Amino acid sequence: MFKKVKSYPKGRKCRFPACGKILSIYNQGEYCHVHQGYVDNAAFKKTGKIRSGRK
Ligand SMILES: [Zn+2]
Repeated sequence: MFKKVKSYPKGRKCRFPACGKILSIYNQGEYCHVHQGYVDNAAFKKTGKIRSGRK
């Protein structure tokens, strides 16, 4: 059996404004590793909170 290495389109750039770093084809994200962490963190801060049913 042939194991296919997962890869992604070449030449994608980090979506973070003013970054423009070219992403590795093995990077499945949309950001370079620096900004991926940054975005994950921000997303966690936003959505990581437990939804309180307060209204
Ligand atoms: Zn970046």
